[in-house]
Amino acid sequence: MYPEKLELLIAGEWCQGSEGKTEDLLNPATEDVLAQVPHASAVDLDRALQASAEGFKVWRATPPIKRQAVMEKAASLMQERIDSIARTLTLEMGKPLGEAKIEIGFVIDVTRWYGEEGKRAYGRLVPPRIPGARQMVVKEPVGPAAAFVAWNFPGTNVIRKIAGALGAGCSIIIKPSEETPGTAVAIARCFQDAGLPAGVLNVVFGVPDEVSRHVLGSWIPRKVSFTGSIPIGKHLTKLSAETLKRCTMELGGHAPVVVFDDADVDKALDAMAGFKFRNAGQVCISPTRFFVQDNTYKSFVDGFTERAKAIKVGNGLEDGVQMGPLIADRRLDVMEGFVADAKDHGAEITTGGERMGNQGYFYAPTVLKDVPDTARIMIDEPFGPLAPITPFKSFDEVVERANSLPFGLASYVFTTDGGKAAKIEDALDTGLVGVNHPFVAMPETPFGGVNESGYGSEGGIEGLDAFLRTKFVTETGV
Ligand code: NAD
Repeated sequence: MYPEKLELLIAGEWCQGSEGKTEDLLNPATEDVLAQVPHASAVDLDRALQASAEGFKVWRATPPIKRQAVMEKAASLMQERIDSIARTLTLEMGKPLGEAKIEIGFVIDVTRWYGEEGKRAYGRLVPPRIPGARQMVVKEPVGPAAAFVAWNFPGTNVIRKIAGALGAGCSIIIKPSEETPGTAVAIARCFQDAGLPAGVLNVVFGVPDEVSRHVLGSWIPRKVSFTGSIPIGKHLTKLSAETLKRCTMELGGHAPVVVFDDADVDKALDAMAGFKFRNAGQVCISPTRFFVQDNTYKSFVDGFTERAKAIKVGNGLEDGVQMGPLIADRRLDVMEGFVADAKDHGAEITTGGERMGNQGYFYAPTVLKDVPDTARIMIDEPFGPLAPITPFKSFDEVVERANSLPFGLASYVFTTDGGKAAKIEDALDTGLVGVNHPFVAMPETPFGGVNESGYGSEGGIEGLDAFLRTKFVTETGV
């Protein structure tokens, strides 16, 4: 059974949409209807906006040490409820239960980290030019925030917005994905049950474009944070420009993986095969373009194929399953299009390349070799369990090919040569670089892209700063 009761959270109260509109929530592994997702009406959204303005007044006046206590209590409640929240996540999103639990563990970690870091929103004193003056640089919360997030990490995407805002002293209206609403509702319940004042956190669902136009059309939110695709990120940035809201845009990527001949190939294979098929490849930092140097190419393709074949695909609630379904049937069509186009461009499938079964949105872990840079999969973000591999000859060639797209989120390198590592770390045009391992996302480190992958960071002191503004105060004669 689906454990979560789906409701909107507005002004501290759980409710259904005032016009009674809903949509079906599907289990991507079985295509069963799990629940009804309530839609907020325009009246509901106006109430949420007003509540976030009122909540902001209360929360910004709450000392950071008291905010941290509420956030710590929420984190403890999440820990108590982790089994139920993880089950909700797997049912609505499809990823294996073990991955869902790790994700909720990360959610707890992020909540604690921002709660603590909020105590350290330090300003500074600047030596004055006028004798006796005191010049202060003060950090203050930017104002009520609005956030919109995608379905691929129903917990992580949501908490990076909520905890960042709350840690900094902002209130927030968040619209999680309608495809994965229950995880967000379960997390929000922990904050409410921990004693968060009414209006500080508001959760709404609806038709995404209608909700974002309505919320961003208001002057109340002073900050927008979005995780999702590049086209939607650009659209929301344009809407935000009307009232000059500050934006953080966490958008798509197309991560190059560079494996040099001097790399430890088994280590590279072990690191990348698991990482590629995690969450069925529906990860913005998923490795998506594999460049392997000539002498290592054959052994890498063979090793990757062997590992992909061994992955157990199935319903994420079943024991031993390593990869679940895609989020929706529209993504199966996208995978089929990428594979057909790659074949037309001369690529060879070494494993996978097709849908699995006819119930649930399962697509086989797929490896493609000899994929030219002109194939669509080497240009557009695959966002699925597809691994295209291509050979390269020289350092300069691979850097140019890796940097040839407008994306700039993550990149990965495998080499045992320290000088080469340093040189390529400088050369890669991405916001995140992992050398000899793929772990580039932690609560305490900045996470974000460059170029069309967006701007602004989540995590680290930069993630808190995204919800702060700077005020300069100068005084004399006091
Ligand atoms: P999509 O762009 O239609 O939707 C992505 C998310 O944005 C969804 O959760 C949706 O609710 C939200 N959204 C869509 N239109 C919106 C609007 N007008 N206002 C506010 N929110 C809106 O893409 P999709 O088919 O669901 O997913 C596939 C694509 O999404 C991939 O190609 C990938 O680039 C991107 N994506 C990126 C991330 C990321 O972490 N950067 C996460 C998920 C999806």
